[in-house]
Amino acid sequence: MTPPVRILRAGYGPRDEPDLFPDPQALSLEAGLPAALEQLAGREALVISGAGMSTASGIPDYRGPDAQPRQPMSFQEFTGSPERRAHYWSRNQIGWRNLQRAEPNAAHRSLARLEAAGAVRAVITQNIDRLHERAGSRCVIDLHGRYDRVRCMACATLIPRTVWSDRLDALNPEAAAVSADPADIDFAPDADAEVAYAGDAYRVPDCPVCGGVVKPDVVFFGESTGPDDVAAAWHQTELAQALLVLGTSLTVHSARRFVRRAVRAGIPVVIVNHGQTRSDADASVKIDAQVAEFLAAAEAPLSEGARGRRP
Ligand SMILES: [Zn+2]
Repeated sequence: MTPPVRILRAGYGPRDEPDLFPDPQALSLEAGLPAALEQLAGREALVISGAGMSTASGIPDYRGPDAQPRQPMSFQEFTGSPERRAHYWSRNQIGWRNLQRAEPNAAHRSLARLEAAGAVRAVITQNIDRLHERAGSRCVIDLHGRYDRVRCMACATLIPRTVWSDRLDALNPEAAAVSADPADIDFAPDADAEVAYAGDAYRVPDCPVCGGVVKPDVVFFGESTGPDDVAAAWHQTELAQALLVLGTSLTVHSARRFVRRAVRAGIPVVIVNHGQTRSDADASVKIDAQVAEFLAAAEAPLSEGARGRRP
């Protein structure tokens, strides 16, 4: 039997430096943890995760309060011109290795344990880095796709990114010979890199099956999320007893709609993010903290609270 929902909308006092990052509803971790635990206790939560989950794994967050503004290539730009695609792949061929090298951090591992304990039912992630899966989470919806494979836009053939990498290098031996030091490269979370191969025109192979255009299996700006992933995410939202948002400003509608649905369904929404989010007004509890700090403090009580609820 789940406890009744008590939505907290405390008159959260002024923060230390409200002018720097005004976020009037947010609580510090210390102040907000008891309320968050009260909202989540004994409930099977659906997690929505974003870039703040993976910053400790060395993957930058380009939307956070400390981020440099950056405009990734849009779907229209990618599909509209072979030259832009070549430009994209020449950079991605450097940038994707940063994701391949990244390791799950303590926050990923904590969420995997909470799923095993029955406190978390699924994770909808906006990250393409596959670190939830590698940390042991089993029910993960990669809402914005995944970096580790590419897909033919015509016939939907999937190719591992490692195989695609070998094909790109074979066609572009001069570029492949340029060894970039990762320490000198400004990586972006979508595997774009802020350095470009500056030699001869970069050559991009066609789909080996049908000759079509191959694209990373990630959702670009201006592109719709995959219908199967969206359907699975709706389903999880309907079954969830609480929603826990971790490390995302919920800037994009593709994730924010699930928060709206949770609010309409009357389940508690706990948001933990460093900085404001677009759904702060919908939160039962909003904590301004790093995801790893929150999970380090919340894992034990949430695991304890889930014990006995599942056989
Ligand atoms: Zn094809």
